[in-house]
Amino acid sequence: MPSLDLSKSTTLSDLQFFVSTVAGKCPALQGRALSAVAILTADLIAPIDTGPSPKRFSVKGSALEPYSVDLGAETEQCDCADFVYRGGIEWNGRHYCKHTLAALAYCAFLKASARKARGTQRFCQHRRPAVAPLGAAA
Ligand SMILES: [Zn+2]
Repeated sequence: MPSLDLSKSTTLSDLQFFVSTVAGKCPALQGRALSAVAILTADLIAPIDTGPSPKRFSVKGSALEPYSVDLGAETEQCDCADFVYRGGIEWNGRHYCKHTLAALAYCAFLKASARKARGTQRFCQHRRPAVAPLGAAA
């Protein structure tokens, strides 16, 4: 199961970038984007799916049972009151609550941390000293 250690792979500026990107696309979503960041930093979200790109998440909230988020669902992506009764915030034909935003941010940071890990690997390979036969040119 992919797990995301935010404290290791995600910086404050990554989180700020997420909020400002969401708010830049849809100002009405800024409050929920901030709540989504709070969910991530408090470690209240966990993927249900295994594999590198999870779609279903369990998010702890104010209710006794954790909320179920399914980013792959056409509608009803979350079972929280904000989403079910108020429809969250609509943007570009989709509806968002803080839990769906937290799941989207989780996916984005998971991809970014995988990219960073690959980048480190490449960097290490690049830095490996080239094997050159000494005195070959002599
Ligand atoms: Zn929700």
